[in-house]
Amino acid sequence: MKYIGAHVSASGGVENAPLNAHEIGAKAFALFTKNQRQWKSSPLTKDSIRNFRENCDKHGYKPFQILPHDSYLINLGHPEADGLAKSREAFIDEMSRCEQLGLDRLNFHPGGSLGKISDEECLEQIAESVNIALDKTRGVIAVLENTAGQGSNLGYKFEHLRYIIDRVEDKSRVGVCIDTCHSFAAGYDLSTPAGFTHTFSEFDRIIGFRYLKGMHLNDAKKGLNSRVDRHDSLGKGTLGMEVFKLLMHDPRFDDMPLILETPDESIWKEEIKLLYSF
Ligand SMILES: [Zn+2]
Ligand SMILES: [Zn+2]
Repeated sequence: MKYIGAHVSASGGVENAPLNAHEIGAKAFALFTKNQRQWKSSPLTKDSIRNFRENCDKHGYKPFQILPHDSYLINLGHPEADGLAKSREAFIDEMSRCEQLGLDRLNFHPGGSLGKISDEECLEQIAESVNIALDKTRGVIAVLENTAGQGSNLGYKFEHLRYIIDRVEDKSRVGVCIDTCHSFAAGYDLSTPAGFTHTFSEFDRIIGFRYLKGMHLNDAKKGLNSRVDRHDSLGKGTLGMEVFKLLMHDPRFDDMPLILETPDESIWKEEIKLLYSF
């Protein structure tokens, strides 16, 4: 079964996210569990946690249908000690919040070298950051997202994600999320059936479908291999609709959150309907 949703607002409290998801007919959702543009947020209150769980129960959202996303400020591969320490602390807090909410996975962008260390050093730093966070939390899978490869951000090649996974001690608590826009921007041609088949056979060979814990469904504003992270609404961009039809018919994407991060939230409801109509 396919579980499609969107990255919905949690403004006013995390407990509002499942309500916002239900409103647009989503069977899955993503959310930020704290303000994604600030380092510090106040802890989740007992009420907020209880109401979040109640609202999820009421609308039928189980943990495997929910893909929380961490703050954009965090860089687990930061080349400098201060930046790295701050990122690791914030990431542990994000993982703890998921644990408190009863969630089983946290989606994050691996990190970037800022041009100051080698790619390998940066990837090793990221793996070590994940190991530290897994040590300090329980039950939450760290879900690496593939990136568009903008700037010095790593994770745009499946090999990068594999390199990190290889160095994570507890393999049962590391996973990946593949973003269709990021893949296309990074040079994986998902716009044709042949490209789709090739990309996901490479994915399976290098990483393995057992690690796939979610997908981000976005069209792309810029072209193949642009290395620019700009999402577009489904069918409106350079990637096109075919990939989403293929995905909807492919059981390898069953039973995980499939999340829209498309720019026009007023049409999410229709985008979800359209995907189910395939
Ligand atoms: Zn994404
Ligand atoms: Zn993106």
